[in-house]
Amino acid sequence: MGRRKLVVGNWKMNGLRAHLPQVAAIGAEANTHASVEVGLCVPATLILSASEARGGAFIGGQDCHAQDSGAHTGCLSAAMLKEVGATWVIVGHSERRADQHETDADVAAKACAARAQGLKVILCVGESLDTRDAGAALPFVLSQLSASLPQAAAADWLSIAYEPVWCIGTGRIPTMDQISEMHGAIRAALVDAIGADGAHMRILYGGSVNAANAADVFALADVDGGLVGGASLKAESFGPIIAAA
Ligand code: PGA
Repeated sequence: MGRRKLVVGNWKMNGLRAHLPQVAAIGAEANTHASVEVGLCVPATLILSASEARGGAFIGGQDCHAQDSGAHTGCLSAAMLKEVGATWVIVGHSERRADQHETDADVAAKACAARAQGLKVILCVGESLDTRDAGAALPFVLSQLSASLPQAAAADWLSIAYEPVWCIGTGRIPTMDQISEMHGAIRAALVDAIGADGAHMRILYGGSVNAANAADVFALADVDGGLVGGASLKAESFGPIIAAA
């Protein structure tokens, strides 16, 4: 019943067609590590071409709207992402929670909309440095998780990414004890919320994962892989992270 490791790159607002060879190289790397599920969440403009170059990696989006269609200028629905080749989507990334003021309820609704289209979902949670310094990281993340958890949450379509905001793009990561403590608490909360299936749900760590720290992070008991930003942009830096899983 082991949980298969999941390593996903989040390209954020990076990547033009000139970067498609990196998708192909990462997809080839994925093919050589069949025990690991590998994906790339690319800008929406690249989903179609990336899904043609993806090799053994899946392609995902980085957000979707909670509705299937309508008067929402500039937004993309889950059906739109799916139509061009996405099979996964990230919801609730801290950059969107901050920049687009997405609430926990918004995030839960987006996850449901993605699920309705058959997309798999990575739901992000994580505390700010102020919250961590105030000693409130655990209750903050657990409350964010419980409020963002979509209806019918289940391990076969939903994964959680714990991404402390102070570690994203900063080169800092929590101590191994802090990661273990948080992932253990998230695991217990999932089992509490959805029952035995919570033991099967994958919990990723994200925030400054790199080739030097990935093996230690991925070896922790309730860490089932990673959500990787900067280091996922090139096969040269993402490959060793995939190998570490
Ligand atoms: P980072 O980003 O690996 O560049 O810190 C991770 C993320 O935001 O998903």
